[in-house]
Amino acid sequence: MLPRIVGAAAGGLLRPAGALAARGFAAAAAAAAGPHFCIVGSGPAGFYTADKLLKKFGEDARVDIVEALPTPFGLVRSGVAPDHADTKNVINQFTALAPGDVSNMSSSLLTASLFRFCCSQNVINQFTALAQDPRISFFGNVRVGRDLSLDELRSYYNAVVLSYGAESDRKLSCPGEDLPGVYSAREFVWWYNGHPAYRDLPIDLSRTHSVAIAGLGNVAVDCARVLLKSPDDLAKTDICSHAVEQLRKSAVREVHLLGRRGPVQAAFTPKELRELLSLEGVQIKMDPEVFKVSPACEAEMKATRMKKRVFDILSKALAEPKQGDKSLYLHFLRSPAEVIGKDGHAAEVKLEKTRLEPAGEGKDQKALGTGEFETIPADLVLKSIGFKSVGIPGVAFDSRRGVIPNQAGQVYTEDGSSFEPGLYVCGWLKRGPSGIIGTNLVDAEQTVDTMASTKDSFRPVEAQQPGAAGLRQLLNERGVQVVDFKGWQAVDAEEVRRGAAQGKPRDKLTSVDEMLQIAAAA
Ligand code: FAD
Ligand code: NAP
Repeated sequence: MLPRIVGAAAGGLLRPAGALAARGFAAAAAAAAGPHFCIVGSGPAGFYTADKLLKKFGEDARVDIVEALPTPFGLVRSGVAPDHADTKNVINQFTALAPGDVSNMSSSLLTASLFRFCCSQNVINQFTALAQDPRISFFGNVRVGRDLSLDELRSYYNAVVLSYGAESDRKLSCPGEDLPGVYSAREFVWWYNGHPAYRDLPIDLSRTHSVAIAGLGNVAVDCARVLLKSPDDLAKTDICSHAVEQLRKSAVREVHLLGRRGPVQAAFTPKELRELLSLEGVQIKMDPEVFKVSPACEAEMKATRMKKRVFDILSKALAEPKQGDKSLYLHFLRSPAEVIGKDGHAAEVKLEKTRLEPAGEGKDQKALGTGEFETIPADLVLKSIGFKSVGIPGVAFDSRRGVIPNQAGQVYTEDGSSFEPGLYVCGWLKRGPSGIIGTNLVDAEQTVDTMASTKDSFRPVEAQQPGAAGLRQLLNERGVQVVDFKGWQAVDAEEVRRGAAQGKPRDKLTSVDEMLQIAAAA
């Protein structure tokens, strides 16, 4: 639970009255002719939005990125699997946007190099390069809704883009869901990837024999692979040391992936599936019955090539069994009905068999319960059925879908009758928890296009000191230690230094206090 904001911090009380607002606008104009933008959240949506804003609004634009953690890059750091290092390299692109190294580079040169970066797989390099732009300031360790309210933040800027991702989870809504031993995949992933809030998750793999993972998406595949892969191989990645320690003493022999629909409807992608099915020493177990597909499933595969490829990969794995001392079960047409506990801890999952019901032209087939049940052993249960965003005070929120209601990125007012001036949204918070890193680039383009076409509705800056200077002063008065990009780079260098000693690309720091100490000394 986040600490509540009290006193002056609560209601935008720092916002000056009308006359001051006009003065603030004049001050803004004096400080920089272009607009002041703030982006909340430094994941792919935040960084891609920053890039697009600079391109769209020109040399005078200023973009500040406010991030709750001392570390940037969102799920590229805390989500992307440790053994998928190529994907993470997007971070270097973001870093190039931060002030410092390339401040002498002309804008067009920067754009050209960014283009090259974007074309490569190297996402971390791309974002890192982006963060070097002198027009960008990074405010790490600042949580909107805790350190300052959204209303307060908005008073310093002409426009604010919310891209703070998804920090909660969809619910299974079945009995036993809250038993000890049941976690969301988000919590498990944030544990092995070193998110500071989840490093102490009480995972004990030495007492875990069988793991059930609900959901058939790529996150479920990541979790299964980490649990089944050789710890020696994982130890060479940037996975956290505490996770390697657990994996080395793991007693896990079975992982069960649970899909409420069939092999044709699985959400994982062919490359990720193939990688999982080819893990050394892991037998693949599936019920051949579920591969008898209906005409509706045939039609789905005909319409979407990827579904056909996934189906073919699964069929091949069924036809060519391999040996191993560990087993991966893929249960299709099975919906988790209950987590059954023993001695107050998860022990089994009761599954209801389902059947597919065509839902009409162009609509997805639905899973319907058949009233037949079976149970599987599971002393660890991971719910990998989707992340979910949370609302913050000061902006409308659709709690059913877990998104901020918007039209092409422009945020609706609470009553939905008009738009919030100068307030926009991007990424998972805008469209829900799906899509790969690159999806957020296209999404950022849409939001920034909307901003350009609605720029006449941007708000004048109300605070006396606009943008970064004003925000820094407020946070300073409140005793918030801001980690700037230089501070993050000091943390980064320390992680790389510690990693080198262990033969891994980095050894992640997971304590905010330790990161703050290193950043302060930078
Ligand atoms: P996020 O990346 O979540 O960024 C949001 C940021 O906002 C975070 O840094 C967070 O700390 C910050 N924040 C939250 N609240 C606040 C607040 N109140 N104030 C300030 N800051 C705040 N895609 C791929 O292409 N390849 C992959 O291999 C891949 N692997 C994935 C693995 C997992 C486990 C998951 C969950 C997703 C993966 N994805 C992958 C998808 C990709 O990570 C997402 O599409 C992308 O990260 C979404 O970007 P975002 O900016 O909307 O959110
Ligand atoms: P996802 O792809 O949406 O998969 C969610 C899964 O949960 C689906 O199989 C869904 O089944 C199931 N599900 C949802 N609600 C359920 C319920 N109530 N009961 C049972 N099952 C339920 O989500 P994700 O795996 O969290 O991934 C999020 C995004 O990140 C995706 O776009 C993914 O591609 C991306 N990602 C990419 C990579 C990569 O590129 N390597 C890695 C990780 C994540 P139904 O289809 O039946 O709803």
